[in-house]
Amino acid sequence: MTSPEPSPDHSASGPDVDVLVIGAGITGIYQLYLAREAGFSVQLLEAGDGVGGTWYWNRYPGARFDSESYTYGYLFSQELFEEWEWKEHFAPQPETERYLNHVADRFDLRRHMRFGAKVTAAVYDEHSGTWDVVADDGTKFRARYLIAATGVLSVPYTPDVPGRDEFGGESFHTGAWPQRPVEFAGKRVAVIGTSSSGVQIVPAIVDEVASLTVYQRTANWCTPLNNAPITAEEQAQLRAGFEQLRETLNTSVHGFHHPAHDRAAFDDPEDERWRFYETMWNSPGFRKLTSNYTDLLANPKANAEWCEFIAKRIRRIVKDPATAERLIPSDHRFGEKRPPFVAGYYEAYNRRNVSLVDLRESPIVRVTPTGIETTDGTREFDVIVWATGFDFGTGALARMGIRGRGGLSLMEYWADGPRTFLGVQTQGFPNLFFPGGPHAAAGNNPRYNGDQVDFITDVLAYALDNGFAVIEVTERAEERWTNMVNRGAASPYSFGESSYFFGTNIPGKPVRYLLNSGGRPKLFSVIADVVANGYDSFTLRPTEPAPDTD
Ligand code: NAP
Repeated sequence: MTSPEPSPDHSASGPDVDVLVIGAGITGIYQLYLAREAGFSVQLLEAGDGVGGTWYWNRYPGARFDSESYTYGYLFSQELFEEWEWKEHFAPQPETERYLNHVADRFDLRRHMRFGAKVTAAVYDEHSGTWDVVADDGTKFRARYLIAATGVLSVPYTPDVPGRDEFGGESFHTGAWPQRPVEFAGKRVAVIGTSSSGVQIVPAIVDEVASLTVYQRTANWCTPLNNAPITAEEQAQLRAGFEQLRETLNTSVHGFHHPAHDRAAFDDPEDERWRFYETMWNSPGFRKLTSNYTDLLANPKANAEWCEFIAKRIRRIVKDPATAERLIPSDHRFGEKRPPFVAGYYEAYNRRNVSLVDLRESPIVRVTPTGIETTDGTREFDVIVWATGFDFGTGALARMGIRGRGGLSLMEYWADGPRTFLGVQTQGFPNLFFPGGPHAAAGNNPRYNGDQVDFITDVLAYALDNGFAVIEVTERAEERWTNMVNRGAASPYSFGESSYFFGTNIPGKPVRYLLNSGGRPKLFSVIADVVANGYDSFTLRPTEPAPDTD
């Protein structure tokens, strides 16, 4: 099979390709692979100049997994799993980017990919039941199915601080990091934002910089990543345990291989609880959330005690008491925001060249041509790093000029927040799918995004086998899923409204839960129902209805 060439004139032609995937991140690569395996002709368009998605754009110093590498990578090929030896339990960005390039080559996927092609318009043609897609490099494709694997954390957000664009030094956003090396040696550097990205870059550059000033609005509950190299013995165990690991990851609630604890906090006496917190503190990555006491999120007293343990650790690590107090969150519980896992972050504040500015005490007034002014005065900088997050969930989909039936824009349809079925389709936009978009489950991303890709490919294959070409979710199915998401948003197991998962970090964005609050089990159960009921959550047609000529 060769990569299809787009036809120059679409007016009288059929689709150039069965499936057009947008985005060469972990989800898009898998979707491309699976659709091709299912026998569809496939093309992929990618805005960047290489594969990787998140792991292409977020190449800032210190960027690395906080999911275990071998649980994040693909599971569709045992040979791939066995031949790729991750070097560390939590791989750094360059290794992940190498891995995704390896996958693209290993499965001969690159010839279906076009890079440097950022989609600017995707319009549904109601006569043919196809999508006309245009990219900013002039590429045009007509596709039967459009699959936007454009990611949830792919549109960087830089706050509109007065004077921002007049800064005379260099400024970078962690989520749009340049390909070229950025010189930090001897520079006066500001980092704005202290969530997962900000806390990773701080320890990574602290040795090089002349000075580092961290601007914190909200302190986060950071705990150690506890990374380590994967030993030869562990590599052998991983290979030998592949089937079991795959089974665990494909069925677990959060997509990790972490064992769940079997006790609630106050089942244990105090001394045992504190010993257990110590074990948690020393455990790798997300285990502090997934293997902690069963009532950590639901019982405020249990959560408060774990937070007290972390606060004590912060006070023990950070030598300056005033700085330590500022680094201890006071406005949210553990797990209300997505907790960062990191090495050496708190320790960095013991360096003489590192200081913390608490923006609650002294907010930013403006960026000047040479620095940052707060209500407390001005500091001069050579480099500003904006670690200020993303327009989560809907950001990329809203910016691609997507228009469905009757010319309805997706942005308008979602003006009050996304409406989806299973986080993969929305009504009025037939043959458009968005795995890994809004309303997907929370946890280890590639696992539940992969569930969605598996399901979408099954739907396409079912349509093909049964002579259908147009697939559109029913109003009722979309309504039920969207209501389920919104109802569950207030559950203690959902993130809090102060997190970006509600869109509250973006001025003017509707406040709606952007994850699947029913989690992976809900996704699995609804998919099973859909399949058992002959895909009746979708309207399936051989063609679009003939246009009304009256
Ligand atoms: P984020 O979690 O949205 O954090 C943005 C940070 O910028 C917050 O500290 C926020 O403060 C601050 N901020 C935003 N607007 C501001 C303003 N106007 N003035 C001052 N500060 C401002 O973004 P992120 O750190 O890039 O992380 C996003 C997600 O990416 C993570 O949750 C995670 O899912 C993923 N990620 C993963 C890894 C990993 O795998 N290890 C690493 C990095 C990122 P407030 O809290 O006060 O809003």
